[in-house]
Amino acid sequence: MATSAYLRAANQPPPLEGYDLFSQDAALVEALRREGDAAREEECAAFGRLCGGEPLELGRLANEHTPALRAFDRFGERIDEVEFHPAWHELMRIGVEGGVHAAPWADPERAPHVARAARFMTLAYAEAGVGCPLSMTYSVIPALRADPGFTAEWEPGLTARAYEPGLRPPADKAGLLSGMALTERQGGSDVRANETRADPLAGGGYALTGEKWFCSAPMCDVFLVLAYAPGGLTCFVLPRVLPDGSRNGLHLRRLKDKLGNRSNASAEIELEGAWATRLGDEGRGVATIIEMVAHTRLDCVLGSTALMRRAVAEATHHAAHRVVFGRLLAEQPLHLNVLADLCLDSEAATATALRLARAVDEDDRPFRRLATAVAKYWICKRTPPLVAEALECIGGNGYVEESVLPRLYRESPVNSLWEGSGSVNALDLLRAAAKEPESVEALLREIDLARGGDARLDSASDRLREELADPAEIEYRARRIVELAALCLHASLLVRHAPHEVADAFGATRLGADGGRAYGTLPTGVDCAAIVERHRPQLER
Ligand SMILES: Cc1cc2nc3c(=O)[nH]c(=O)nc-3n(C[C@H](O)[C@H](O)[C@H](O)COP(=O)(O)OP(=O)(O)OC[C@H]3O[C@@H](n4cnc5c(N)ncnc54)[C@H](O)[C@@H]3O)c2cc1C
Repeated sequence: MATSAYLRAANQPPPLEGYDLFSQDAALVEALRREGDAAREEECAAFGRLCGGEPLELGRLANEHTPALRAFDRFGERIDEVEFHPAWHELMRIGVEGGVHAAPWADPERAPHVARAARFMTLAYAEAGVGCPLSMTYSVIPALRADPGFTAEWEPGLTARAYEPGLRPPADKAGLLSGMALTERQGGSDVRANETRADPLAGGGYALTGEKWFCSAPMCDVFLVLAYAPGGLTCFVLPRVLPDGSRNGLHLRRLKDKLGNRSNASAEIELEGAWATRLGDEGRGVATIIEMVAHTRLDCVLGSTALMRRAVAEATHHAAHRVVFGRLLAEQPLHLNVLADLCLDSEAATATALRLARAVDEDDRPFRRLATAVAKYWICKRTPPLVAEALECIGGNGYVEESVLPRLYRESPVNSLWEGSGSVNALDLLRAAAKEPESVEALLREIDLARGGDARLDSASDRLREELADPAEIEYRARRIVELAALCLHASLLVRHAPHEVADAFGATRLGADGGRAYGTLPTGVDCAAIVERHRPQLER
């Protein structure tokens, strides 16, 4: 008996799952070889195979069964805990055992940060929510290194590849996680508006009193917290559980009901005489914690790049299997134009993200200083429109939860908000340029490595120099400048390293005058099919 068309999965693509997320991303593989170490390819591929399997389903589960606050136990005692679905714990375990958290800091092999960046992106492709605690744990290490005492106390637990959920004294746990609490109700970008107080204690340490309006991953073992000590705004190390096993005075008021990032818990917290020790000098809180923020900003870039990659993978895969008006979407010129346009931004983001990660391996501070602000601003800004267009590429199914695109779409604005939102990063570029002019030189030097390779890039980078040198209304012009800097950096990397058709189309549309304002406006003559084929996961290979 013939199967009814109603019962068949008519004209639907096979599910995009069960494949090596790393090796099927040509731009990422090439970037790892270039910026890191080809010897680490197999380790990344093994992680890519792992993440392309069960974690795709775990991500769905962790987002459907969102974390719940358990403020009190049945006897009415405060416990301030968050309960997660097992899928969350499994994803966290995969991340920690894969060294996506702080493991690179203890890794003596070459280029651990580039390889870790590739793994972070691979895991974020499967599920972005766990990226938050994994990133904060990664980023706290360089800040803690300001004090050898903290390094000795915390680094072994934070870098261990062991995931141990639950609130217990740090010394009793094989692996630890870190969070941060800066933002208050009256000010997030402007942390100097903080009101949390830190009173010195006679027996050593400080008692912290106040509230924090956003504190993500509140089940972490330790937090960096900003509070006002007698000498000014200061950075503190605050353990969740005290060495004697009692809970510190950190209470969870409620969990945020967020647009996206729903597998992850973000809390409003109260600090009620919470015991903490000082990191860095009193009054140097921002300078101390900025070391952590510099690394979480890198992860915002990686996280957004991963969202772009997944959206592009889903859209190109769909087009290769869906017939519309008698032809595959992947053979229709206008749809190819849309897909190729999306691929250009995904490829540019990937090249830039791993170049930035190399700067961590090389401890290249001047380059990182400016390039982080530039890349974070633009890549995170570019992600929501890219994901929205990819969603449309899948048609009505793209608007339905099962396609994953709605989840990507809800997640897509968060990296721009976190860790210095768009304009704050744009202004940070100006601050860096004024205070550390060597960072401007380092960025321009990198862009100039492609000089002569594309006349459009040459004239754009000349324009960038002029914009940076012109002080008139510079604050007002900050977004124009940071956008131009990002496009120049992207183009320079693509001219040097990407296939000609990618670099040329990027230059024509992002730096020349031959592009439109929506995706799908590439000029004629672009080899869209080749660009799309490069970015399409090849399940049949
Ligand atoms: C899901 C989520 C999780 C979070 N987790 C944490 C966490 O774990 N720990 C933590 O400390 N914080 C956390 N935050 C808070 C986040 O870092 C802040 O929301 C962010 O820094 C912005 O601060 P704000 O909300 O006070 O906005 P504001 O500072 O009031 O900014 C509002 C707008 O003004 C713009 N702006 C600010 N200054 C200027 C200026 N000088 N010129 C032009 N424009 C300007 C900003 O770009 C923004 O668009 C989280 C936020 C979210 C959404």
